[in-house]
Amino acid sequence: MEILQGTGASQGAVLGRIKIIKENTRGIEKRTIENVAAEIARFNKAVEIAKENLGILYEKTALAVGEEAAEIFNIHIMMIDDGSLTDCCESIIFEQSVNAEYALSEAAKVVSAMLIETNDDYMMARTADIEDIKNGILSVLSGEDQKTQLTENVIIFAHDLTPSQTINLDKSKVLAFVTERGSVNSHTAILSRSMNIPSVIGVKGCMNEALDGCECAVDAEENSVFIYPDEKTKSKILIKQQQKIRRQEELMTLKGKRSVTKSGKEIRLYANIGGEDDIDGVTENDAEGIGLFRSEFLYIGKSSLPDEETQFQAYKKVLEKMNGKETVIRTLDIGADKQANCLKLSREENPALGYRAIRICLEDTNLFKTQLRALYRASVFGRLLIMFPMITSKDEVEKALSIAEEVRQELKNEGIEFSPDVKLGIMIETPAAALISDELANLVDFFSIGTNDLIQYTLAADRQNEKLGSIYNPMHPAVLKLIKLTCDNAHRAGIWVGVCGELAADTSATQILLSLGVDELSVAPNFVLGVRESILNSNGEGCSICLNL
Ligand code: PEP
Ligand code: MG
Repeated sequence: MEILQGTGASQGAVLGRIKIIKENTRGIEKRTIENVAAEIARFNKAVEIAKENLGILYEKTALAVGEEAAEIFNIHIMMIDDGSLTDCCESIIFEQSVNAEYALSEAAKVVSAMLIETNDDYMMARTADIEDIKNGILSVLSGEDQKTQLTENVIIFAHDLTPSQTINLDKSKVLAFVTERGSVNSHTAILSRSMNIPSVIGVKGCMNEALDGCECAVDAEENSVFIYPDEKTKSKILIKQQQKIRRQEELMTLKGKRSVTKSGKEIRLYANIGGEDDIDGVTENDAEGIGLFRSEFLYIGKSSLPDEETQFQAYKKVLEKMNGKETVIRTLDIGADKQANCLKLSREENPALGYRAIRICLEDTNLFKTQLRALYRASVFGRLLIMFPMITSKDEVEKALSIAEEVRQELKNEGIEFSPDVKLGIMIETPAAALISDELANLVDFFSIGTNDLIQYTLAADRQNEKLGSIYNPMHPAVLKLIKLTCDNAHRAGIWVGVCGELAADTSATQILLSLGVDELSVAPNFVLGVRESILNSNGEGCSICLNL
């Protein structure tokens, strides 16, 4: 057995066979070009397509593992726009009359050398990004696909996986990542954590080709990679895996149980989804319904707006798959951190405070009505609830409700069937909405508190900014007071209130949220059973007194 040491960047222990992913070694020919202007135009066109591809990767990653992890692809777009690489490449084509592929690989060497010369860790780490950007443009120039196809479950060994290589791998077949380079905060490490795949980075000597296909064990907790692990190591890994499985099995015993607190209050335990593919997870983890379906997936990454029929088919499928269980679909919540190119929105100084979500829908009523028509038409296939995001005023709610009424009227006139029981609710994710929740509660059937945004707007702390971790505090008394106020006002008006932000999945907050009066917790499918365990152990009352609220 050989032991290689590195740094565990994403926890977990696995056994499997090694698959080495070599760096891009495609041979790049140097050719003389007669028409230099045409070659520069070919290069510029490839750059534009590569940027579009990065935009798609951003959107794909944002939906799959979150915006924070996806940010790297925006950074790559910015690095292209900064011009160092592309200007250098154009000069090489122009001065040496050479082909774009060769010029680009030379330009990447020049820019990387400049980054290394800075001797600054952060700048030096950007050479991996230059490599990734170069490969992205090269694949457009050559028409080749960058994806590595995996046919079986493997432990990936690589020099330093680029973010696009990582996101393009079939994650269901990746047991672990082992890389020769990289840092705990590298984007690949962030991605592997978000994808819940164990990884060990900075493993010297892992790129020995003879290791391809060998048996291997990875224990990220121990910062170790074992080649041809001995029996003792294998059983240690198996024990760790079994502990994980046992915990999973323990949670599975909660399937089919009601989510009731010790004091007897039944909590709606629902799931958040981002697309139809997530529904299997909802069923497997026994969520009682869907508390938040982010309908953005229909718009993000699309070159044109989805028409009514496309949306109808998508909502119908979700409602049918949910088989009569309640399904809360949120209307379009685009803007700020969630961009959809097909909406062609202009850049803004303060996007989080800008033209987004319901603000767009109330302005562009055709867009809004198309979605509402599709939703109402689909409503006959299940139990639909519709929810409006980013509400700040009574006026917005009244306008949204009146447009929904117009849509119902139109459908009726056209003889198109829809369910008369579609409940309409709003998200409480701005302090303004929480503060006037007494008035808003009289207009709608339910509230769902979006703590991700409510915390951001209450504490003036960008939810995406890693540096604000300690300021972005879900337990800040101001946030808790707004949640309590919302619950009190909802209950006074006889409506229920849920939480569908990330806080709902934090089991250390379950007792607090329930004692503030929350009736529903809606969480990512794989957190459902852990939260059910927490609900069963909660009193569901009492702590608002100790919190002095
Ligand atoms: C929230 O803001 O808490 C929420 C659930 O919405 P999103 O994260 O999609 O903005
Ligand atoms: Mg939100």
